[in-house]
Amino acid sequence: MAINNYLKKLINDLAMEVINLYEISIPISDIDLVVENMGGRVVENPSMTSISDGKIRKLGDSNFEISVSPFQTEERRNFTIAHELGHLFLHMGFNSNAERWNQQDSISYYRSGNSELEYQSNEFAAALLMPQIEYKRIMDKNTEGNIVNTSAVAKHFHVSVDAAANRGKWLGYLEW
Ligand SMILES: [Zn+2]
Repeated sequence: MAINNYLKKLINDLAMEVINLYEISIPISDIDLVVENMGGRVVENPSMTSISDGKIRKLGDSNFEISVSPFQTEERRNFTIAHELGHLFLHMGFNSNAERWNQQDSISYYRSGNSELEYQSNEFAAALLMPQIEYKRIMDKNTEGNIVNTSAVAKHFHVSVDAAANRGKWLGYLEW
């Protein structure tokens, strides 16, 4: 299952709005600080192993908490947190839909499974960590002939090589 191009564009546009609104510098070097600037906090939860690497829930009227498993690489942890921020802005109504936000009191969102909501949050995470224009610029800087050094691109954005390669494929820059 994939998401259609129209929805992808909306999600990428929303991620750019979030980047501008919170004045987030790309590449994101401290995503916990980004979360704090939004009114959230990140906590490590060693019991989160089998179900999911991350979880988000509302805390009070304008705050939220993201729990992450400590058993993941820093690169994966960054993507996990960005994924949960996708749920926050796309599905929980944070700072955008008061009615929906009010309904989130006992609901948690995870990083797991293959539902439509998961795909949407993954797209948001990739767009937040690797905005398209910046991705293209860094990719071009790390291309020799027609060979892209995906590891260097991944290192620049503090994401896994898989995440960087997938972003390039979804944007149509890299071959599947
Ligand atoms: Zn999720």
